[in-house]
Amino acid sequence: MLSNQRGSMEDLMPCISYCFLTTNCMSTIYKAYVHDDYVMVAFIIYVYIGLFMLDRCLTAFHHLPPRESSPKKTFLKFAIWFLTSSILFGFVCEFAPLFSVVGAVALFAIVVVGCSGLFYVYFFLDDKPASEESSGKKMEFVSDQVCKALTNMMRKLLLQASALRRLSTAHSLPSLLTSSSRRCSSSSSKTTSPQPPITSLEHLDDGPSQATSKISIDRSALYNPPEHSHEHSSDSELVKHLKGIIKFRGGPISVAEYMEEVLTNPKAGFYINRDVFGTEGDFITSPEVSQMFGEMIGVWVMCLWEQMGQPSKVNLVELGPGRGTLMADLLRGTSKFKNFIESLQIHMVECSPTLQKLQHKNLKCVDEDSHNGNVDKRTISMLTGTPVSWHAALEQVPSGLPTIIIAHEFYDALPVHQFQRASRGWCEKMIDVAEDSSFRFVLSPQSTPAKLYLMERCKWAGAEEIAKLDQIEVCPKAIELTHTIAKRISSDGGGALVIDYGLDGIVSDSLQAIRKHKFVNILDNPGSADLSAYVDFASIRHSAEEASDDVIVHGPITQSQFLGSLGINFRVEALLKNCTDEQAESLRTGYWRLVGEGEAPFWEGPDDQVPIGMGTRYLVMAIVNKKQGIPVSFQ
Ligand code: SAH
Repeated sequence: MLSNQRGSMEDLMPCISYCFLTTNCMSTIYKAYVHDDYVMVAFIIYVYIGLFMLDRCLTAFHHLPPRESSPKKTFLKFAIWFLTSSILFGFVCEFAPLFSVVGAVALFAIVVVGCSGLFYVYFFLDDKPASEESSGKKMEFVSDQVCKALTNMMRKLLLQASALRRLSTAHSLPSLLTSSSRRCSSSSSKTTSPQPPITSLEHLDDGPSQATSKISIDRSALYNPPEHSHEHSSDSELVKHLKGIIKFRGGPISVAEYMEEVLTNPKAGFYINRDVFGTEGDFITSPEVSQMFGEMIGVWVMCLWEQMGQPSKVNLVELGPGRGTLMADLLRGTSKFKNFIESLQIHMVECSPTLQKLQHKNLKCVDEDSHNGNVDKRTISMLTGTPVSWHAALEQVPSGLPTIIIAHEFYDALPVHQFQRASRGWCEKMIDVAEDSSFRFVLSPQSTPAKLYLMERCKWAGAEEIAKLDQIEVCPKAIELTHTIAKRISSDGGGALVIDYGLDGIVSDSLQAIRKHKFVNILDNPGSADLSAYVDFASIRHSAEEASDDVIVHGPITQSQFLGSLGINFRVEALLKNCTDEQAESLRTGYWRLVGEGEAPFWEGPDDQVPIGMGTRYLVMAIVNKKQGIPVSFQ
């Protein structure tokens, strides 16, 4: 009776396991599909079918008499070996880019050894003469166990595949940081607190260290189906989409995934369909504050070009150019230096079609037929006659020319994973849908793939630094981007300038949302507010140095030191000599905002609009090819 029950349970387990696997594969395929990740879609389908066939082959194989030697048995053994090896190789090819070169090679080596071992088990060990029954049983046991373990491992890998792949594309703690020192709202507000609102909703009862944090622990496990309905008729497109992902996934999504969707979802992301900058928009950035910012960056770029030996062609790349104001001011400011201007090929890396159009307009671009043919169009900025092109990612910018890269307020828009210390160790903060259909934070009940990045980040920090922290943010995309930048600079020569607000060390809990110049709840009406996080400059330095021995990292220094050393004081004085009273007022305010610290002392306007200086809150770092020597401002 008991053995019958056990038998029926054993029959049932594979069915349950397959239902579970099928649901997860479907949600992963859906997710990969909505992100246009067709390679992932094909990969999951292949592995899913492969696992199914492997199961069938294993069952048929174990139903054969142990000592039988027939073509059918040989075929089954070959099929099992082939399916196992090809799936394992598939996983390695898919996820090797997540690892360093050494890690990827090690992974390949493990798989090669594993597959060879399997070949040995099936075709040599298992094929020994059946003289000894006892050793025959042992051999059967080995091949059986090896294959079962591998199949189970592959199932688990398949379940994690989506999250791992999402991390790879694209491709870290004391007190809470106050948001007043982050991305600039257009004015300070004495009536509203500069602290970001508390976004967490529920009580955390997981150990003493979270006394001030309110996050619920997701006890349903990551892959359990949600019990609540997530549909709300008044939900925006993006909210429906986010809830759809959570629903199909059958569990919460990481903060990074939420941030990425909110900012850059191709249909409804914050940046995608509108101009979010300036007083009419949601926040203001340095190039929008004053023309002097772009002009000073122009001075730095030109000095680096000189140090590079004045190459006749150079790629000038801007990552996330917003309205294109920085580049326009840079071109205007340097337009008199003919050799420099004639060497430039401008590449704008921008994901938003709306902002691309705005950049096209602000750079006064015209599309003209190329000289060599009728198909290709060239786009020229009429400000200086410089060719301009647009790309969705840095990898798409043609290589082979010396390159100068500018990343102003770009890194802060890259998605971060958040971790919280709990009694059971570091847990990832995730976003789920609550019973009332609003979003809420939960803690992952088990380890998540992003933990790898946390471990990687902690490797670069001292144990004491980490011991002090209860929360850590890590930004894998920042590390990946820095790798790409360092490799490009190493192979093509040149340098990169990174300007952003952040810390020269691990960042604790800095993610914030700004709508219409006010800090708002991160989870409130996603897509209608900017999300940004402190930049971890130390991790940029480590990843650049790790990526190439040919590059050297300078800084970070404060924006005030940087602009001061480039001569912004002389520039403001020169401009003040020839302007109206109104322009003079705006120049003074702009200058203060760029280099000052705290509230402007001379301000006579309304109290709630007193400008806050960005001079010490923004940091500047340079990554340059060692051949170029030390760039100006960092000497
Ligand atoms: N540098 C500009 C704008 C900063 S806001 C300024 O200082 O005014 C961030 C910019 O990066 C926007 O233009 C946004 O559309 C772009 N962006 C954000 N994430 C991106 C991504 N993943 N790929 C390309 N562009 C991105």
